[in-house]
Amino acid sequence: MASGPPPDFPGGGRLWRYVRGAPKAELHLHIEGTLEPELMFEIAARNGVAVEGTVESHRIRRQSFKDLQDFLDLYYAACDVLKTEEDFRDLMYAYLQRAAVDNVYAAEVFFDPQTHTERGVPFDVVISGLHRGIVEGHRNLEIRANLIMCFLRHLSEESALSTLEQALPHLDKIVGIGLDSGELGNPPSKFERLFERAAGMGLKTVAHAGEEAGPEYILEALELLKVRRIDHGVQCLKDSSLVERLAKEGVPLTTCPLSNMKLQVNSRYFGGRNVTGQLLEAGLRVTINSDDPAYFGGYINDNFVRAVSDCNLTERDVYKMCRNSFTSSFLSDVDKAFCISQLDYHTIVSGYAAPPRNISIFGSRSPEPGSPEYEEARAIAKLLASRGFTVFTGGYSGIMMAGAHGAREGLDERRNSGGESEAQEVCGVLVPSLFAFREPLGNSYTTRPIVARSLTNRINHFCMNSEYFLACRGTIGTITELLYVWKYATIRNTIGVSLPKILVLRSNFEKPLEAFADAMKIFPEDRGLIQYVDSGEEILQVFEEDLKRRTVAATITLPPPFSTSN
Ligand SMILES: [Zn+2]
Repeated sequence: MASGPPPDFPGGGRLWRYVRGAPKAELHLHIEGTLEPELMFEIAARNGVAVEGTVESHRIRRQSFKDLQDFLDLYYAACDVLKTEEDFRDLMYAYLQRAAVDNVYAAEVFFDPQTHTERGVPFDVVISGLHRGIVEGHRNLEIRANLIMCFLRHLSEESALSTLEQALPHLDKIVGIGLDSGELGNPPSKFERLFERAAGMGLKTVAHAGEEAGPEYILEALELLKVRRIDHGVQCLKDSSLVERLAKEGVPLTTCPLSNMKLQVNSRYFGGRNVTGQLLEAGLRVTINSDDPAYFGGYINDNFVRAVSDCNLTERDVYKMCRNSFTSSFLSDVDKAFCISQLDYHTIVSGYAAPPRNISIFGSRSPEPGSPEYEEARAIAKLLASRGFTVFTGGYSGIMMAGAHGAREGLDERRNSGGESEAQEVCGVLVPSLFAFREPLGNSYTTRPIVARSLTNRINHFCMNSEYFLACRGTIGTITELLYVWKYATIRNTIGVSLPKILVLRSNFEKPLEAFADAMKIFPEDRGLIQYVDSGEEILQVFEEDLKRRTVAATITLPPPFSTSN
């Protein structure tokens, strides 16, 4: 695996890291095309199937192809080793494991049942094995994967229809249908009845179109098959009115840069150019995918890296394509919103977007209203909220309540004076499973209760929602939260992304923290990540200055959080 950006990579290491770490969905991936030579030989050996050559000779054979058909001949031959449910499970799991490394959050995976049923492997074996891989992959790798059943377009529509019948008992394992294999001479119109029937069964529809065949295949796929996405679709560039229509209707294109290069689509149709940049400039809803990564020299991140290098793309293009991958997916709106929030967060941490005006306040649950510690935290929170900060606290009593109390006062003050405050809240991150005896929805000042399932999940909420932290007087809980964000900052410091601002009240923390840092011989650069402050004004100034700096440096304006596809 590559350990750094290629020499021609624009934007250097920062953009490269952004690409690699960005949450993304893969929407164009044939599971049979992920069969690496090593796994092929392993499965062949246990099934007693003879395969000619060696891992190395297969690697070499896969380095170049004349065209799509040349590749397909090799691809179908490799599939001969796949016989049992275990084989299909292993194939799926191996892909998901590799995809997790590229930070794939969701995958809509094509499989070709006819490739297997035609050689005597029962449909049930294929789908049960793939499904097992998906379930295990979700448990261990946190990837939401779904299956799209593809039909081989070089076979007849009758064959496709009878395969669809075999899928009936397994519809709960399939999200949609697609159309793949040799495109030229097998137009979408050949499968009109099939797509109508599948749509009637509630299946989503996609189709390969405009990879090697012309724009008319894309039009047919849209009009006759009524597909929701076009797989490849690069040939739309040959018809400007089609480009206009695709852009206007926001039809997703699942493009595969390395595939287009390896199958000579670029050299035969586009003068050797990678057309990703041109598609983006035309305002098309482009996504990046790997197609058949075990044959085309790379997985999804390699495809992103290739496209960014070839077309001199920016972080804005990368963000847009990653976001497109989620909005164009068949995930539920709930999952889309989650994945996009993770992408936005990655963009903020990478320094390409400004952080939200949010701050997390940590502190003990003990101080009572009227005590100096309570009133100090309340005054600080009030000042921050009166300047538009959303305050996050632990939501219960003591300093948590003082923070919420002051934040509510500041918010009310702002609202009464007509300040912009629609997005501003007083957030309490509660852990009802642990604190069943406390107020179920937190203290009365909290306007937005947020539920965490565990203590660590609660700290994660603070980190995901804010880049600004303040520790007030507290004991073990506060120290735990402080150490966590401190550690988090040290990691971010070593990988060179934006840093969170961590402030602590000098009167509470200077002595114990300095003694601790001395005793533990904590590195000066790590010690420097915590800043002592004395007053609310000083806290506000530090946060405002940092926010201003990061807003000026930002190159991506994040759209409002995703809520619904409609
Ligand atoms: Zn494909």
